[in-house]
Amino acid sequence: MDLDRTDHRSLLLPGAMPLQRQIALKSWLKRYWASAWMRDEKGWLENACLLASSRVDGPWEKQVLRTLYCGSKGRLCGLPDFCNRDALDRRVEPAQREFGPAFDRAPHSYALVLASELDPRKAGLWLEWLREPWLPFAGERGLDLLTDPIQFNDYQQAELLGDFVRDLAGVVGGGAFCRIEPDLLFRRSEPGGSMRGHGDHAALVHANVLLNAPGPIEPRTWRTIFRWYAQFWARLPYCQSYPDLWVDQIGDRAGLETWLGYSLKPWELHKWFLRARRAGREDAFDLVLANLDYHHDELRTRACGNLSALSGEYIGRRKPMRLSNKEINQWLNDPAFAALHPDWEDSIIQILEKRKARRGRGRKVLRPAA
Ligand SMILES: [Zn+2]
Repeated sequence: MDLDRTDHRSLLLPGAMPLQRQIALKSWLKRYWASAWMRDEKGWLENACLLASSRVDGPWEKQVLRTLYCGSKGRLCGLPDFCNRDALDRRVEPAQREFGPAFDRAPHSYALVLASELDPRKAGLWLEWLREPWLPFAGERGLDLLTDPIQFNDYQQAELLGDFVRDLAGVVGGGAFCRIEPDLLFRRSEPGGSMRGHGDHAALVHANVLLNAPGPIEPRTWRTIFRWYAQFWARLPYCQSYPDLWVDQIGDRAGLETWLGYSLKPWELHKWFLRARRAGREDAFDLVLANLDYHHDELRTRACGNLSALSGEYIGRRKPMRLSNKEINQWLNDPAFAALHPDWEDSIIQILEKRKARRGRGRKVLRPAA
């Protein structure tokens, strides 16, 4: 039977999926239809359908059910790569609270994607505010090899990419905050198999970066940065793709927060699935996804330079201290107690702001304009 895995109606038809998954998806859909902010989240419905209909067993099964029951009885799944609610709660909103206020002290801020391309005609330097990209590899024949998840899983690329971002922040004399994401590509299997390993798909990494500098960075400096990135890329282990750097200027605090929302979003399972389907490799999708060892430490977010809370030049707003409800209430109601802990004030303000936002309706991830 031909099942459309992105369509919740067909997944709920009798026998389309195991009953346990159908019940879980129904539970998720109940919360989804009842919540305006959930419906506003682009791609969430499709991601939930893809997880519900995944055909991988073992530990993966548990993750799927946890994600689908997220928000039920007030329990969160804790898997922000798959779940928009957790991405907002654990990644996006804390980062916006921490780095949003930094814009006033670092107005020369930039959004960067440090990525790579398999097609040399598409790889280069893209300065969003200029019309023409710089595509220095356009004449090259292209690389035939694709990476496989085993190569992704040893995370050398991810870790080194994070180090590159740290060095970049040091060279420009500002700070950076970065999140490293995988990106899955699929292509039709070719008879004869000229490609190495599981050559029908690629798991590439890219870094979404918020970068600031003491002054504006001119286009010619961006070219120098790109050349430096290209040299770094060529030295990477298993390098089988061309360096690609996209840059945009951030104009205000709202733009900075929009960029953080985009940088820290859940994985785009739906986009990857459509690529697999287009290449006729729908069968490989679940296995490739389940094999990404996403709990690995190198995929954590990193902050460096003036965006690192450990730095003497830190310009963000410190994350709130962990305070119990009892401590907060005593601080609010007992002036003598509050006087003993003047350093709690900003943490308590942040905790109260967060509670207010949670009660409010219409929360959504901010996205960059298309
Ligand atoms: Zn969740």
